[in-house]
Amino acid sequence: VRQSAEAVIIGGGVIGCAVAYHLTRAGIRPVLLERDGLAIGASGANAGGIGASSGIPGRTLSYMRKSLELLVTDVRELDRPVEMVLGGRLHVALDSRERAAMEEFVKVRQHEGMDITFLTGDDARALEPALGPAVLGAAHVPSEGHINPFLLTHAYAAAAQQRGAEVVLGVEATGLQVSGGRITGVQARGDSISTPLAILAAGAWSASLLAPLRVVLPVKPGRGQMLVTVAVPPLMMKHVIRPGGLGIRQAIRGNILIGSTLEDVGYDKGLKISTLASFARAASEMIPALEDVPIVRAWAGLRPMTPDRVGIIDTLPDLPGLILATGHSRTGVTYAPITGVLVTQLATKGTTDMPLDPFRLSRFSAGGAQQPASREASRRIRA
Ligand SMILES: Cc1cc2nc3c(=O)[nH]c(=O)nc-3n(C[C@H](O)[C@H](O)[C@H](O)COP(=O)(O)OP(=O)(O)OC[C@H]3O[C@@H](n4cnc5c(N)ncnc54)[C@H](O)[C@@H]3O)c2cc1C
Repeated sequence: VRQSAEAVIIGGGVIGCAVAYHLTRAGIRPVLLERDGLAIGASGANAGGIGASSGIPGRTLSYMRKSLELLVTDVRELDRPVEMVLGGRLHVALDSRERAAMEEFVKVRQHEGMDITFLTGDDARALEPALGPAVLGAAHVPSEGHINPFLLTHAYAAAAQQRGAEVVLGVEATGLQVSGGRITGVQARGDSISTPLAILAAGAWSASLLAPLRVVLPVKPGRGQMLVTVAVPPLMMKHVIRPGGLGIRQAIRGNILIGSTLEDVGYDKGLKISTLASFARAASEMIPALEDVPIVRAWAGLRPMTPDRVGIIDTLPDLPGLILATGHSRTGVTYAPITGVLVTQLATKGTTDMPLDPFRLSRFSAGGAQQPASREASRRIRA
């Protein structure tokens, strides 16, 4: 490991790698430390759904839309296979309560200028013939879709390396060095790398690195279980999502991904038969042709969850030299491009073009967004 770097990124998930890529585009050559392998965390275990409609209107929706736009540009410029399909997403309703909620979901988003329409069950089936009769209606978002998150993470890392970033695998960051009230380096077991800038992108494991500095980061693991079928001939065109988060999509290679749960079980990555059985039942209710498709694999991943399920992209006023890029909860793949851009703006000019308010750490402190994101404020959260 090098002894000094312009910046050190901790974590080789989609967030850390997108940050590395965008930093190198701005002329900064970071060292990225990943204790295991790239995309070994949530970034290699997710459903790969990309879309802005799950954003919160008036709060995060515009950021997610921007991120999706940036993703299209990034994918073009990365020029590596990432299996992106923007064939549209359907949020389906299976009972009258869900149908009413879906109509409202559409109305609110149309109000924000989104291209989204409400379809009756029959109209939804005309668009996606794989849908079963149980579907009573759907919100259709034509600009959304899915991507292979594993390939995207690797593509960001490879492009960053090509532009001068160093990606170091199998090396764990064990602490942040502080001197004179600012970050001066990152410890990596016996070694240390001196740097004026550390970027924390360690996913569900981010909080422990800040605890010794008495900064409380409200990021916890949120387990998600997934199921995948063997590759089958093209069966469904759209990414179909049920309220509550169960999604079904067919990857370019033909496999169908079904999942996931959101469970508060610490760092346990275990799988449960009852959960997988319930996925299988719900999936074949939405897409009846799935009933006889063989399952090939199941896995679980740990999302970096925050209490409001929105990420943390921020600096700490009384700890210069540290940027937080973590806690992206259920939507980190979608948020990766804009996180890379916002972190790069923070690193190069100290401010961002879009306000960081929805992502500030201080929103979790007693006084909300008005409070400075200080260690004092964070200590109060813990109290
Ligand atoms: C089942 C499931 C389904 C999901 N579906 C979607 C979806 O459809 N769409 C979407 O946008 N998002 C989805 N997500 C969420 C998304 O996967 C995450 O928000 C995103 O991957 C978070 O990326 P990350 O880089 O912050 O974290 P991670 O990918 O977890 O990466 C963190 C990395 O940091 C490394 N690390 C940790 N500590 C250290 C250390 N001390 N030193 C060095 N390295 C360290 C870890 O090894 C890990 O590789 C899903 C997640 C799951 C689990």
